[in-house]
Amino acid sequence: MNKNLIPDHMIPSFDRLDLEDLRQRNIDTILLDIDNTLVGYKCIEPTPMVEEWIASLRNEGFKVGIVSNATRKRTEIFCKNLGVVYIHRAAKPLRFGIRKALIQLDSRPEHTAFLGDQIFTDMVCANKTGCYSILVKQISKDESLYCKFKRIFEQKIRKKMEEKSASEGV
Ligand SMILES: [Mg+2]
Repeated sequence: MNKNLIPDHMIPSFDRLDLEDLRQRNIDTILLDIDNTLVGYKCIEPTPMVEEWIASLRNEGFKVGIVSNATRKRTEIFCKNLGVVYIHRAAKPLRFGIRKALIQLDSRPEHTAFLGDQIFTDMVCANKTGCYSILVKQISKDESLYCKFKRIFEQKIRKKMEEKSASEGV
């Protein structure tokens, strides 16, 4: 299997991100996908929980950016009050969106974690750019057929990862 498809780590939801673990990995920057990572597709604005969590990341000293494939309008409205760098229409798995965010944040990929819900866009993009790739469980089940199709393959990879971490006793 192509190694770019394999996330470095998996968590059940964004708020389970282990900041201490990231620090130990010398990570100072956290990039985030929006749709199905922080909120469901139909949620136009961040929930209070998302806002508080992002504020807590910044309070803990992390640089935070949003890298989304969504439209300018969707991304701008979502990020309006978050006070973070954001990139819309990032065209993940292409690398330019993440690279643009890293330039704006003055960050290095090896010191950056990327959090997303899709293997074929988020994880491939994070891995190709050399970020620490973290897969979260998708929030909404309300997805297009194309996404549902991709999920079948993603399930296989998730299963493999789970077996791997079980065998390592993590
Ligand atoms: Mg997503």
